[in-house]
Amino acid sequence: MNLQERIINSIRDVPDFPKPGIVFKDITPLLKDVSLSSDITKALADYWSRIDIDAIVGIESRGFIWGNSLAQKLGIPFIPIRKKGKLPADTFSYKYDLEYGSAEMEIHRDGILQNQKVLVHDDLLATGGTAMAAAELIKVSGGEVAGFSFLVELGFLKGVNSLKPYDCDVHSLITY
Ligand code: AMP
Repeated sequence: MNLQERIINSIRDVPDFPKPGIVFKDITPLLKDVSLSSDITKALADYWSRIDIDAIVGIESRGFIWGNSLAQKLGIPFIPIRKKGKLPADTFSYKYDLEYGSAEMEIHRDGILQNQKVLVHDDLLATGGTAMAAAELIKVSGGEVAGFSFLVELGFLKGVNSLKPYDCDVHSLITY
């Protein structure tokens, strides 16, 4: 089995979570398979080592898992982006619309240095709203968006289209 097949076989589909009509792609079973988890980090590092990246931002909370492993593998800093009110020091924040209501994400003001090239990493790309919020936080922090990295992309939601304005590579290990 190749890596993509191993990931697809391990992801657990949970229907109607967190609300009716959503099929939640649960990546927690991947974490129990140590060799798969480590092969995912290697595959991400192989892919992203081709371009010049100074730091990685991971989106709370599942973006922290391989975002940080990838940063360690590439030998670059990892910076968390969290929901409003979770980060303790001074932050930049960005508010964005969801299907129902809105959300707000934050990053520490001293997380990204001026002109750093920063990769966004999350577990899953759906509509792209969350990844866009991360990209905007990189920009207000004085960094440049270097690319977008995901384990899973829900291709039918066309989230890649909303990331086109950032004019950089969008990569997912598997696409549904
Ligand atoms: P979006 O902003 O629409 O691209 O949604 C992406 C964010 O919501 C990511 O942080 C995902 O972890 C989470 N997410 C959205 N849809 C799903 C899903 N079907 N399964 C698991 N996570 C999801």
